[in-house]
Amino acid sequence: MLLIEIKPDKCDFCGVCVGVCPEDAIELKEATIKISEELCTNCAKCVWCCPIEVLVFRKDKIQQLKASTFK
Ligand code: SF4
Ligand code: SF4
Repeated sequence: MLLIEIKPDKCDFCGVCVGVCPEDAIELKEATIKISEELCTNCAKCVWCCPIEVLVFRKDKIQQLKASTFK
């Protein structure tokens, strides 16, 4: 489950997150940014490194994950 949300309208496509991602999960192409759900491990490195908070944790998904883990 991908726990990261992208706010693409805020992104300035600096590429910092692409360089930081250990899984090569972030694709930055022609002013679009995408995270591969298959490759992403939700390690959060991209969230911490983005200087303008384009990448954030999805609280709804985290709640969903908690609910299914602690049933
Ligand atoms: S670090 Fe932030 S601003 Fe830079 S490309 Fe990644 S998401 Fe966009
Ligand atoms: S959470 Fe980690 S694995 Fe997923 S896109 Fe960000 S840096 Fe890459």
